[in-house]
Amino acid sequence: MPHRITDPRERAEAQLRITEERFRQIFENAAVGIAEVGADGRFVMVNGTLCEITGYSRHELLQRSFQDITHPDDLTADLELAERLARGELQQYSMEKRYIRKDGEVVFVNLSGSAVRSANGEFMHYVAVVEDITDRKRAAEALRQSEQQFRSVFEHAATGIAIADMDGQFMQCNPAYEKLVGYTEAELHGMRFGDLVHPDDRAENMRRTLELRRGLVPHFEIENRYVRRDGSSVWVRKFLSVLHDDQDAPVRVMALVSDITSERERQQMEREAMRQKDEFIAVLAHELRNPLAPIRTSVAVLRTLGATDPALERCRDVIDRQVTHMARLIDDLLDVSRLSRGELRLQRAPASLGAIVTQAIELAEPFIHQQRQRLVVGGPPDGFIIDADAARLTQVLGNLLHNAAKYSPPDTEIHLTVAIEDGEVVIAVRDQGLGIPASQLTRVFDLFAQTDNARELSKGGLGIGLALAKRLVDMHGGSITACSDGPGRGSTFTVRLPAATDAQRTTALEPSQQAADRTPPQARRVLVADDNADAAEMIAMLFELAGCEVRQVHDGESAVLEAERFRPDLVILDIGMPGMDGHEACQQIRRAPWGASMTVVALTGRGQDADRQLSALSGFDQHFVKPVDTDALLHLLQR
Ligand code: ADP
Repeated sequence: MPHRITDPRERAEAQLRITEERFRQIFENAAVGIAEVGADGRFVMVNGTLCEITGYSRHELLQRSFQDITHPDDLTADLELAERLARGELQQYSMEKRYIRKDGEVVFVNLSGSAVRSANGEFMHYVAVVEDITDRKRAAEALRQSEQQFRSVFEHAATGIAIADMDGQFMQCNPAYEKLVGYTEAELHGMRFGDLVHPDDRAENMRRTLELRRGLVPHFEIENRYVRRDGSSVWVRKFLSVLHDDQDAPVRVMALVSDITSERERQQMEREAMRQKDEFIAVLAHELRNPLAPIRTSVAVLRTLGATDPALERCRDVIDRQVTHMARLIDDLLDVSRLSRGELRLQRAPASLGAIVTQAIELAEPFIHQQRQRLVVGGPPDGFIIDADAARLTQVLGNLLHNAAKYSPPDTEIHLTVAIEDGEVVIAVRDQGLGIPASQLTRVFDLFAQTDNARELSKGGLGIGLALAKRLVDMHGGSITACSDGPGRGSTFTVRLPAATDAQRTTALEPSQQAADRTPPQARRVLVADDNADAAEMIAMLFELAGCEVRQVHDGESAVLEAERFRPDLVILDIGMPGMDGHEACQQIRRAPWGASMTVVALTGRGQDADRQLSALSGFDQHFVKPVDTDALLHLLQR
């Protein structure tokens, strides 16, 4: 049975004991270490938490002074403050210091010291409240170290780093950035990222930055020029990204910037070297073309004369074939140099698909016959018109037919089919020849590509034709593909082109009707002007054999004089002549009252768009590129 306390004094004492016990519990288990320390520094009373912090048992602590366990480096400061507290100069003090634990480890604590005084104000002892801040200290230290590391990276990085607010206002940059732009960080304050960008590059830079700021992209990379403080330009590659805060809100824009001026200069030099090479190829091809012109015309003249000796006839045919082949190679070479200079352009107009196919066949047929192969043609539907550069498409088809013959043995068939399928013109050239290994079906369209089996066959060729064909078909908005069942099993090349609209179809009908009513050639007066006497002679002979009355001159001035005297129906003018060139001569003829109705054509080695435009401006009716197709020249008589 529990003992009941009835005596009030006893009750009060019991109450006091309970209160004391409570205080003891609080003291003992407080979150902080608490100690009563004598004037000499000895621990008089310590709680459990202080024992935990220091690693000593209560008994061990009570045998020690705070001086014994304080880190030697912190002792002087602690003693000094304690003495001032004892003297009454301080009411209390607070400091961070280190203890050396019993196990030798260092603990960081926050110490609050105060003094207990007697009723008459005499110092009796210290009370120390000790908070373990080791974890906090360590975390702060780790943070400091990591910040120092990042700062060091920032300071020493070879890449320029700049940070701006979301409006692009500069906040911070590293020395590499300062060096790159020539401004100090202080000078950049008050400026914006965009201010450094070269005026010509600003629009694009602004567009991309806006996308970034609106959160449409997380980052972007751009190459542009910066204008440095001294006004010079520097090419930079910039990587811009947005930095976010803890709540994931965008707060900063960071730019990583590297100087690529020398890289750009090297690229520029490489481009210049390429340009020079292309220029050289263009000039070379042009120069090679000129001597071909009179050879070709001579062959045409020989043919017109009719050979008496079969041996002569054979020689003439050999020359014809080889010159034609050489002209093709040179033309391809010229086109390649145009292709790499981005100067390959189409002259699109509504054109008869039938005429294109016929011309391509005419181009390739002599070679197919020579190979003793048979061409089987299917389509196209009559009167079908496409929007195309007829000459270029003829070149593409001619090339496919030529290849089909070149890479097939004698006594095989080549099938050309032209059809309209789902609003597309589909042209297929199928042969029964060499075939193409599956792995090389797409590679054949690369520039200078030749399949291994074709190389062994050593048929000659530069590997240009299909690359050009692909580019030309692409430019028409179409596609070209190759397929083959493998080596020895033939190949099929398929060209797909968008068909023209109805409107285009009707516009084109007129010229084809015009072509229908051709009048037979009749005797005409022809004036030929070319500073290359052989070339002039051959063309003159060609027209004489066609029954024309022909005069020859070798410079521009004579051409104008002779045109006035002779009043030819047709004037054929070389462009590059000493003194007055073909353009000037044509302009003078056109200005004369007698010259307006003459047919004046340019005959030149230059066939680029700009050259053709210039000819049209000078008043030429047509522009022929050497070596000219003699049939096309004679065709002029039918105008
Ligand atoms: P070239 O015929 O002058 O070498 P092309 O660009 O016209 O250049 O052709 C590239 C390559 O594609 C050829 O060298 C040949 O290997 C292959 N090729 C083209 N057409 C055919 C074909 N009809 N049959 C087999 N291989 C072909």
